[in-house]
Amino acid sequence: MDAAAPKPPASPPLAVHLVTGGGSSPEHALLLRSLAAARVVALDAEWKPRRRGPAVADDPSAAAAATPPPPQFPTVTLLQVACRGDGDGGGAAAAEVFVVDLLAVPLAELREPLRELFERPEVLKLGFRFKQDLVYLSATFAAALGSSAGFERVEPFLDVTNAYYYLKGHDMQKRLPRETKSLATICEELLGVYLSKELQCSDWSYRPLSEGQIQYAASDAYYLLDIFDLFHQKIRTEGKCLPTNELTSDGHCPQRDAECSSSEDAVCFDDYFTSVVMKYAEKILLTESDTKPRSSRRKEKQKLATNAKCEEKFEGSTEWQGLPPWDPSAGGDGCPKFLCDVMIEGLAKHLRCVGIDAATPSSRKPEPRELLNQTYKERRVLLTRDVKLLKYQYLASNQVYRVKSLLKHDQLAEVIDTFQLKISEDKLMSRCTKCNGRFIQKPLTLDEAIEASKGFQIIPSCLFKRNLEFWKCTDCNQLYWEGTQYHNAVQKFLSVCNISD
Ligand SMILES: [Zn+2]
Repeated sequence: MDAAAPKPPASPPLAVHLVTGGGSSPEHALLLRSLAAARVVALDAEWKPRRRGPAVADDPSAAAAATPPPPQFPTVTLLQVACRGDGDGGGAAAAEVFVVDLLAVPLAELREPLRELFERPEVLKLGFRFKQDLVYLSATFAAALGSSAGFERVEPFLDVTNAYYYLKGHDMQKRLPRETKSLATICEELLGVYLSKELQCSDWSYRPLSEGQIQYAASDAYYLLDIFDLFHQKIRTEGKCLPTNELTSDGHCPQRDAECSSSEDAVCFDDYFTSVVMKYAEKILLTESDTKPRSSRRKEKQKLATNAKCEEKFEGSTEWQGLPPWDPSAGGDGCPKFLCDVMIEGLAKHLRCVGIDAATPSSRKPEPRELLNQTYKERRVLLTRDVKLLKYQYLASNQVYRVKSLLKHDQLAEVIDTFQLKISEDKLMSRCTKCNGRFIQKPLTLDEAIEASKGFQIIPSCLFKRNLEFWKCTDCNQLYWEGTQYHNAVQKFLSVCNISD
């Protein structure tokens, strides 16, 4: 039994247009026509993961002191665009899905239509944590066409996470929970669609793209439209319960503006829709500091350390981003490894219980530098609840993650979900919860266990009559056996990790 039971990965239920030519090519022309007619456009981007230089990997303090190579953002090689036009009264209008090959399409021909799309007020843009995509996309266009060719804003923009919380009945007056759901989780929960993550880390700069890559890339944009449709339907249902005003022939309330819904007697469906969208939509604005890669922003950050605006930005950068350092395409060995800060040592034990390598700092009160060094050397992701640690800008954004949940079980679920960890039953209890060590290959018999425990650990005499197997940690010699606690723990983790039989 495996948590990642093979399910067929979803592909968009319609043909994907691969755009590789300029404005005179039929696919490119269709893209421009679809953008012009669209009311809702879902966006996503792929880029080739960037590898860090060895100096940074070995010693962060040295890297901070030495002059690093000029930092740059990854080049976006693929832009996925899913457009939906006006529904003519009834069901949702047809969608068109495009995968735009930015290595092949002349960027000069794409820049203005994209800028226009991003800023056109009557087109809602959908995305999933799209700001990072926009930063990279902007840098890609600026690098190719000159510094003024970047993008500044996307407005109005709706993150599907917000649509998700609306669909889950989240109180709109309250602050939205911090994002912890991955797009794959949201799609599975809302649409019952399984998005394969297998190709996420594939080389998006390699050509030709495989059919699998094209379908995967297209799915990430296409299913945003489906989530939006659910969002739309729910608003429509709720809108019907409200007093309606006279509609004009085109179905719009005469005084149609966002303020309309605030006066009780002037509510009509479209305004309700607009107001809900407005409440959940936002705009993405890139400031100058967003468009500079991190290491060059470090000094400014220090200068602004007491500035409230800085604090706010800082909050915004607490999301974990990028490839985990254990990812083979980032040079890792494929085995997830974490370092749990002292405040969340309980989480380390929980992670070990499900077989994940989770170290704790070697000293009780580690200096930030010690934590960061261990993180780099052992290719771990530092898990912390300490916001201050996120200030260390020489820690790449994919190497530190701020755990948001307070309870250990929630923290475990959060980490599993954020890092898309695959937990299988055979990995449960495969590590020493005390020291993170591995167990000896072969179980010990009772006699061997009693011998091994002498002067070290007491084996309850009630176990002597039972035919139990004992396991010894190769690092700290702690003995474990399958007791009721073990079974309780297994049950608990099966439920936390959503593993069903
Ligand atoms: Zn141990």
